[in-house]
Amino acid sequence: MRFAIVDNKRIEAAPKAQALCPGCLQPVIAKCGLQRVNHWAHLNNKNCDTWWEPETLWHRSWKNNYSTECMEIVLFDEITKEKHIADVRTVDGLVLEFQHSSINSTERIAREKFYNSMLWIVDGTRLKRDYSRFLKGRTDLEKTNNPAIFHVHFPDECFPSSWIASAVPVIFDFKGNETIRDPNDLRNHLYCLLPKTEWRPAMLITLSREKFIESTINGKWLSNFVIRFDKLNQGQQLLQGQFIQNSVIRRSPQYYLHKGRWVRRRRF
Ligand SMILES: [Zn+2]
Repeated sequence: MRFAIVDNKRIEAAPKAQALCPGCLQPVIAKCGLQRVNHWAHLNNKNCDTWWEPETLWHRSWKNNYSTECMEIVLFDEITKEKHIADVRTVDGLVLEFQHSSINSTERIAREKFYNSMLWIVDGTRLKRDYSRFLKGRTDLEKTNNPAIFHVHFPDECFPSSWIASAVPVIFDFKGNETIRDPNDLRNHLYCLLPKTEWRPAMLITLSREKFIESTINGKWLSNFVIRFDKLNQGQQLLQGQFIQNSVIRRSPQYYLHKGRWVRRRRF
């Protein structure tokens, strides 16, 4: 973790410094070296938060977009007595979890339940095939009237399987730590996968990286994005017939409409 407590103040790791973990109040020591970003570690190297993963440069760069007051917030569930440290908690109570490692579904579900109002930001550069799968899969997405929004009938063709059943928005960052000079490179954007609902398939929304960061910093993400999306969903429910009709022309031939649903043709 980046912050630990000394005299009731949150301080960053510096060589030979000692402090207390904000989660369990046990001593932590500063780890400062070339291999990893400076951080605090428990004496036995076992983090009291089992959900914590070693921080990478990517984690730190993302967290650095937010004020230190919003970083590494200890949250406690009065009923279950569980305590976890959220990567970022914005002014409107939205938790952002930056995830580099793969995650099993049990832990993903537990974290989504615990944080409730949250979204994932996933490092899309962990495996080489993640971005190539996305590039290939996105050509089959169903277009909508908004060029930034797509219906995703087969999320597994675009995204790692561990994320496609998530109940909260999952934002994929395929840029990682790279510097990309080409303004048209798709990796400049973020890609938000919204879970499917009763009346529509999963959706993919192309987001401006800067606008996403800005709206989460000023606490406008929930009101600007989520509430607007609820309205959009209702609108799409009404327009569903029209969407399906339009998409007949757009869909690639390996899909066909069966009882109102898109089904992939079996390959023999
Ligand atoms: Zn601890």
